[in-house]
Amino acid sequence: MTNLMCNDRQQHTIVLGGAGFIGSHLCRMLLKEGRHVLCIDNLSTGSLSNISSLFANPSFRFLRHDITQPFPSEVSQIEFLTEIYNLACPASPLRYQQDSVHTLLTSVIGSINALNLASYTGSRILLASTSEVYGDPEISPQSEDYHGSVNTTGPRSCYDEGKRAAETLFSDYYRQYGTDTRIIRIFNTYGPNMDSEDGRVIPTFINQALHGMPLTINGDGSQTRSFMYISDLLSGIRRVMDADIPALPVNLGNPEEVSINQLADIILQITGSNSEVSYRPLPIDDPLQRCPDIVRAQKLLKNWQPTISIERGLRLTIESTKLH
Ligand code: NAD
Ligand code: UDP
Repeated sequence: MTNLMCNDRQQHTIVLGGAGFIGSHLCRMLLKEGRHVLCIDNLSTGSLSNISSLFANPSFRFLRHDITQPFPSEVSQIEFLTEIYNLACPASPLRYQQDSVHTLLTSVIGSINALNLASYTGSRILLASTSEVYGDPEISPQSEDYHGSVNTTGPRSCYDEGKRAAETLFSDYYRQYGTDTRIIRIFNTYGPNMDSEDGRVIPTFINQALHGMPLTINGDGSQTRSFMYISDLLSGIRRVMDADIPALPVNLGNPEEVSINQLADIILQITGSNSEVSYRPLPIDDPLQRCPDIVRAQKLLKNWQPTISIERGLRLTIESTKLH
């Protein structure tokens, strides 16, 4: 195994799921802050190409490992380990349903392994939870006090219930063992480094528009999502990690709500594509509406709020897609 230690007294950080879309941006941000970063990933939905530019940095290390398995002992011996981010979990419905049992194990057993590591090393640990804990919500916008409307047995349950169980574990490790936990509930986030094949709506529509293929709208396209650009999420994550709010879930999302039909129109307009749109059935349990209440985040995180509009974020993402 590669040496996981860097021999100076700089603060060390572990990013679980660091080769994925969000994780790769997070690793880059942490390195810019001057931290040593160990990225741990099983490369199931992430890729080395997302982090290839980081390998030249002597403060960056990568370990291929599945977090449902115990960490190698070298990991728990890292000195000056102060922060762990648990982002490891497939996030696209297509991907998390391919091995649904492993998705659930990743959130539950993987979180237990990560929490034990944090407790043993005295590190602060953050869980990347999700707006999916609200299921198909009966109220809008969704505040953190809303307990959700989730199907326990449907095709999305492995992800939704896995994250709900992970939140419970992060809360109980704090109450029972005093582990320094943070929980964020991320609403749909997008940007460069998303896998164009993973089925999520923004990379799929961009890919289809750029290749002149029909945009595949599920249902009648009136369902809504609130899309946040990656840089807004990263500034929220940093503030949550620095704030004194153990185990308190915080929504991080952009309250600018758009329907999937509107999203298709914006992407067609920005790309100048002549693609048609085609309609197909709405998948089971696909939530009809999603919009974050971000009052808690604004109050606790020094007035944090998203600053990138959907048009600007999509332009940045499309530019980056064209370059690759
Ligand atoms: P992603 O699929 O691009 O990244 C997930 C990463 O975790 C991948 O690199 C994958 O290989 C790795 N991984 C998966 N299972 C693993 C395991 N058992 N062991 C080790 N590594 C494993 O997804 P993303 O969009 O970057 O999401 C990152 C995190 O944020 C996920 O936990 C997801 O649930 C959460 N989240 C994302 C969004 C979003 O809109 N992007 C919304 C809500 C929550
Ligand atoms: N969607 C769509 N066409 C696609 C992919 C997704 O219409 O090719 C829809 C999907 O049914 C959902 C929304 O877009 O209503 C967001 O889907 P995504 O998979 O990106 O995220 P999630 O459902 O987890 O919010």
